[in-house]
Amino acid sequence: MKKAELLAPAGNLEKLKMAVHYGADAVYLGGKEYGLRAFAGNFSVPEIAEGVIYAHRRQAKVYVTINIFAHNKDLEGLENYLAALSEINVDGLIISDPGVLDIAQRTVPQMDLHLSTQANTTNWASARFWQSRGVKRIVLARELSLAEIAKIREHVEAELEVFVHGAMCISYSGRCLLSNYLAERDANKGECAQPCRWHYTLTEEKRPGLYYPVQEDERGSYIFNSHDLCLLPHLPALIKTGVNSLKIEGRMKSAYYTAIVVNAYRKALDAYYADPDNYVLDPKWYEELCKVSHRSYTTGFLFGKPQTGDHNYGTSNYVRSYDFVGVALSYDEGSGWVTAEQRNHFKVGEELEFIGPQTDMFCYKLSVMEDLEGVALEAAPHPQQIVRFPVNQRVFPGDLIRRAKDG
Ligand code: SF4
Repeated sequence: MKKAELLAPAGNLEKLKMAVHYGADAVYLGGKEYGLRAFAGNFSVPEIAEGVIYAHRRQAKVYVTINIFAHNKDLEGLENYLAALSEINVDGLIISDPGVLDIAQRTVPQMDLHLSTQANTTNWASARFWQSRGVKRIVLARELSLAEIAKIREHVEAELEVFVHGAMCISYSGRCLLSNYLAERDANKGECAQPCRWHYTLTEEKRPGLYYPVQEDERGSYIFNSHDLCLLPHLPALIKTGVNSLKIEGRMKSAYYTAIVVNAYRKALDAYYADPDNYVLDPKWYEELCKVSHRSYTTGFLFGKPQTGDHNYGTSNYVRSYDFVGVALSYDEGSGWVTAEQRNHFKVGEELEFIGPQTDMFCYKLSVMEDLEGVALEAAPHPQQIVRFPVNQRVFPGDLIRRAKDG
């Protein structure tokens, strides 16, 4: 059985490395070049090259998004940019605009081209059309049920990619101008400020400045606020439709978020492929997804159109029950001490959790801590300080350290 690829977001180089270290088969990222208005973290070509080398050494692929709705001026310099991406061995381009697709096919004919979800492919005839235009992979719209995905699979040989995890839009992905209009940040360029989660009131045209509250409860209204997508419990059904790639959303999420979400899906996929007939979801994997900042979860459109309960009317806040506090750098087997880089404040006496690709989550109450000179510390005084402390189990470089918010 050809395994479905686990595809993770890479908002910057650190997140790319985290995603690959935690088991992503491929990552996708956006570049600074080609007139894209960059948000912090977008990659320069040399950074993409570094990411490609890092990923390829670990048998992972790198796809680059060029999925803006291109205006004429956006096409200036495109060919040079495409040639540069080809030169550094990028594995595929994610495109939504037919003109950009055409230019890419002429400029870098050997490059794999993926059709972005922003092209909103929702039926097999569209999928077949794009396949006939030489697209290798189609990233399907999020707004599809299992049955619809299976039907599209019946009609095309092109690879199919589906979203399994992350934020949901109240509009078709990429077809929303709220963020552009209210925050001058283009959702279409990966910069959405998520104004669909903001508070809204009602005004009557002839009474400007008079705001009628739209109040669902005492905290306000969240009329456009979707739950987050989570299809971890439904991976077998999704895989059986014949999809080729399972995509995690969230290039703007933290490196910790990327690592934990990739880790949970990696463990589930590995368990499934090891023994598909006897696969059962380990509740620990789902619990991990509840330990990152998220809105409550929904299955989106997988089992039909979302109903009232799939909308989060209660709050637009994230659930965030854990703080990411550090990364393990090395472990000394003789002494059982770990050397770690602090990322957030933590102190002696606190209960910490450790998790990594080879480390099943375990807890340890921090009894002592010191700096690299052996000076005892109650807490690390500087951001990103390197500290040492004993742990009760082996950990590995790259393992994450976190603390419950009430811990
Ligand atoms: S504002 Fe909301 S609905 Fe619009 S693109 Fe952003 S997340 Fe999606």
